[in-house]
Amino acid sequence: SPVFLLSATDVSHFPTKAKTFDVPEIAFLGRSNVGKSSLINSLIGSKEAHVSSTPGRTRAINFFALHEGAGEKKKIRPTLIFADLPGYGYAKISRSISSEWPTFIEPYLANRETLALCICLVDTNIPPQPNDTQLITYLKQSQRPYLVVGTKSDRISGNVLSKSIAALKREHEVDEILPISAKTDAGIKTLWSRLMAVAED
Ligand code: GDP
Repeated sequence: SPVFLLSATDVSHFPTKAKTFDVPEIAFLGRSNVGKSSLINSLIGSKEAHVSSTPGRTRAINFFALHEGAGEKKKIRPTLIFADLPGYGYAKISRSISSEWPTFIEPYLANRETLALCICLVDTNIPPQPNDTQLITYLKQSQRPYLVVGTKSDRISGNVLSKSIAALKREHEVDEILPISAKTDAGIKTLWSRLMAVAED
């Protein structure tokens, strides 16, 4: 079960290695309303991610520690850290990520030593969005490992979904997009196995 660590609104707030035991960190990134908190909820099976939606925390990076086991068997050292980043692109699609995002996001992506994988969420129900392309391009340029997941896959039929995934891959210039649904749990097991591979690395 997850433990909420803290809500960071400045570089100086980021949890230290002593606090995270230096375990790999997974960052979740996406436009507002893409389904980020729903995905985190289905991954960790709790309402913990709603913490991120409470006022004052929506423009923060919210850190969670995930532990294997429960109760007495629960280890002190977490297996993974989740970092839930603020949603972007709500007000105006044309606005660039950097002008809209709090200034501490870029230092986080550029410098966070324990950041092992960025999960980029894109909505399979809408056309490819320029600000998503911008984020993915930034991650490629900074050589950050990333995995693009296509959210809300339950809302469209198999054929429409395949076409949407193809268009997203083409526009964002990525080899893989994993379709997922927080509603039906489609793709969630596959995503977990990718996260565990990072944890065991
Ligand atoms: P966030 O702003 O990225 O955290 O997005 P939320 O998780 O709050 O979801 C935004 C909206 O999309 C809500 O109305 C959710 O119920 C809906 N939603 C999220 N994930 C899914 C999904 O997998 N399937 C469907 N059908 N709706 C979803």
